[in-house]
Amino acid sequence: MTDLEIARSVPHKHIFEIAQSLGIHSDDLIPFGRYKAKIGPTLGERIQNRPLGRYILVTAINPTPLGEGKTTTSIGLSMGLCRLGHRAAVTLRQPSLGPVFGIKGGGTGGGRAQVHPMEDINLHFTGDAHAVSASHNLLSAFVENHLFHGNTLKVDPKGIRWPRTLGVSDRALRDILLGEETGRRPGKFVITEASEVMAVLALATDHADLRQRLGRILVGLTEGGQMVRAEEFSCAGSMAVLLKDALLPNLVQTLEGTPAFVHAGPFGNIAHGNCSIVSDRLALRCADYVVTEAGFGSDLGAEKFFNIKCRTSGLRPDAGVVVATLRALKLHGGGGIVKSGAPLPPGVTGPNPAALARGFANLEQHIANVRAHGVPVVVAVNAFKDDSAEELNWVCERALAAGASAAAVSTHWSDGGRGAEELARAVVKVAAQGTQFNHLYEVTSPIKKKIETIATTIYGAAGVSFSPQAERDVELATRLGFDRLPICMAKTPLSLSHDPTVKGRPSGFTVPIQELRILAGAGFLTAVCSGIQLMPGLPKKPAGERIDVDPQSGQIVGLQ
Ligand code: ADP
Ligand code: MG
Repeated sequence: MTDLEIARSVPHKHIFEIAQSLGIHSDDLIPFGRYKAKIGPTLGERIQNRPLGRYILVTAINPTPLGEGKTTTSIGLSMGLCRLGHRAAVTLRQPSLGPVFGIKGGGTGGGRAQVHPMEDINLHFTGDAHAVSASHNLLSAFVENHLFHGNTLKVDPKGIRWPRTLGVSDRALRDILLGEETGRRPGKFVITEASEVMAVLALATDHADLRQRLGRILVGLTEGGQMVRAEEFSCAGSMAVLLKDALLPNLVQTLEGTPAFVHAGPFGNIAHGNCSIVSDRLALRCADYVVTEAGFGSDLGAEKFFNIKCRTSGLRPDAGVVVATLRALKLHGGGGIVKSGAPLPPGVTGPNPAALARGFANLEQHIANVRAHGVPVVVAVNAFKDDSAEELNWVCERALAAGASAAAVSTHWSDGGRGAEELARAVVKVAAQGTQFNHLYEVTSPIKKKIETIATTIYGAAGVSFSPQAERDVELATRLGFDRLPICMAKTPLSLSHDPTVKGRPSGFTVPIQELRILAGAGFLTAVCSGIQLMPGLPKKPAGERIDVDPQSGQIVGLQ
């Protein structure tokens, strides 16, 4: 059965019932049909004195291009916790239309570990991503209009950093020429999930904070080198209005009726890769366990979860789940090359203890990365159909020796919550131990020092080099007073290093920083390693080629 067929084969509860299981009354909901709702602005204040539940972060080793199962594990674990009698919820990012129609497909889990209704969540959902695009592009239009009407702010047109945005992958828009024939100048498009407005939405703590962050966005520089912000274009109020409803968290359910919050979708390689603070906060006041997924491996989404998201929210995680698969560990051990669209090599799918043993080093680094923040680790080995029990158990044993507090094989993809019960038990135990959560670096450290700390501790690099452009960017950020912001690294997810072809646990390499972007509204500095696209392209055979509407039933087919 396809994911869509599985999802349609199980009964779903009314969203009022899901809300009720969290102690949320239907009056606090803004329903979108039977299975989706936004949580209205009235709830937050009413529940602010409820105790916080345990906060469980799900991260992973460096994945193959197919993904190693963080979303499915997050969903499965929340269902497993419910089966053990706990009140649990999962919080996830909203998938991006780029991957949905591009290489990876949807982002709503798979098999028996999915969130429902996947057709909606993967597509327009409750319209939040469109609202982000509109809000972003409104600022572009206001800036353009300011230039047109005399440019009283004396903005240097060449110094404008604010791009345009679009929700689909279209490589032809990466570098464009803006304007009319008389005054052309270069411009750029980024995909909506790379827009600073998406990061702002994910990090805003309430409507007032959202409004202030939008106003702080750095649009560019004047001819005299002074900064010009969105506030000065008198646009931030309208941008906030367009995002008013988008800031409200979305509630849906897993295939077993576990409450799921799906809200905001900043990418993990170029942005901070975590779902919204408002949804996590709300969930933690309503559930005893909140499982949240951070994008890609611990080198990207988890590091940014600890050092950007938790710093902003003040929330503290109780445990980190590191997801590993035999196939990705074997890939890291030289078992073969994995390409999306091509069959997996036998050295990765079949028994290969030698490659597994070599590739285990990658998992070791990820365990260390979570522990470097004072957070105890549970390793979840996401089992595939043909995986050998011997190899799965070997990974669990080695994980304990490598510093994990617990490890479990999980079969949530084929068995749903039942398959994640052992993992859930391990998480409950470890999360009760107490943590000494710490950030990896102080925001008051100099910019270069912060980047070096991340590269050497989390990636295992020997050091960092800065291109002449990056040097100038660091100087500018420091001159403008942005040197006390946390760092958002933009790098490949496929390797611990900056080079996607380097597998395992490399050492001795130097991370090259090409440029540093100031995202003053989001409140971080993005340090870009070479080769990161802010506007992805589509592959030769995009996932969208298989997607259609069935002419008889009117239902969607081919969405994965
Ligand atoms: P991530 O969130 O880490 O990118 P996902 O949970 O989205 O990974 O999984 C990536 C893809 O692999 C999805 O299509 C999912 O259905 C599939 N998948 C994950 N785990 C399994 C498994 N154990 N068996 C088969 N397919 C799986
Ligand atoms: Mg995912």
